[in-house]
This record gives sequence, C-alpha cells and structure tokens, in this order.
Amino acid sequence: MLTLKAFPDMSNLYIHEGGCLCGAIRFHTTDKAVAVMVCHCAACKQRTGAAYGLGVYFNDDDIEFTKGSKQLFQFVSDESGRWLRTEFCGRCGTTVSCVVEKRPGMRGVAGGSYDDLNWFTVESHIWTRSARSDMCYPDHAKLYEQGTP
Ligand SMILES: [Zn+2]
Ligand SMILES: [Zn+2]
Repeated sequence: MLTLKAFPDMSNLYIHEGGCLCGAIRFHTTDKAVAVMVCHCAACKQRTGAAYGLGVYFNDDDIEFTKGSKQLFQFVSDESGRWLRTEFCGRCGTTVSCVVEKRPGMRGVAGGSYDDLNWFTVESHIWTRSARSDMCYPDHAKLYEQGTP
C-alpha cells in the first residue's frame, strides 16, 4: 500500500512489471534500482546465451514475484570465485533474476525480462576484459575491467 508522508517519497511511484517468456512467472519492482550493470564475464555469456548479462539490482523488499515459482541454479564464477544463483522459469527457461554472494540482501532482475526495457539506464559495465571484441560502450558508462571495487 502506498503511504503518504509529509514529504512524499516519489520513488514509491516507480513500479515496473516483467516476467518470463511463457508468462508463468510475473514480478514487479518498486522503488528505484540500487545498481544497473552489464556483466561481460564468461559465466554470464553462457548462462544467458547472449553477449552479456544485464542486472537491475534491488533491495530484496523492493521486488515481488506475483505469479509462478522459480527454479534455481547455483554456481561459482571462474572469474570472481564467488557463488551466483540464477532464478529461472522451469517451463520456458527464461532467467528472471539472480542472487549473488557479493550483494547480500539484494536481488538482480534480468533486465531483458521487463515489459518496458527502457525505464532504466545502464550505469556500468563490469568484467570488460572478457567482453566480446566487437563491444562498444556509451560515453556515460563506467567501465571496470574486473568486478566493481
Ligand atoms: Zn516461463
Ligand atoms: Zn557475470
């Protein structure tokens, strides 16, 4: 429920929905993302089947799964040595979110699973040393050869 304060926190008005390809899983996120980053590590390429992973990170309380149940797969990244847990639809295989050892209390939404892909701006690109050789970066993006410091 939206509660009004003396000085309303406008961030409560940011509600964005998304889900998996088959529609079995749906979620919405509230409040603002804590971090938005593209990850070029080898594991993110493999787990997504794409050129990079796109994570929109929230405090756990700011994401709600409203439909379906997620399957989990946990692995240890070759590059960081830390564990990551991907959360995906058991029916269509879409990854909708992930939890990473480095960010306790947070959850990363797979950016491509939002209905509106353009509501957030990518702030940083990490593990760029593993990026595809044809990768180009926007001028405003912060680049990190390895993970964030
Ligand atoms: Zn699905
Ligand atoms: Zn990665």
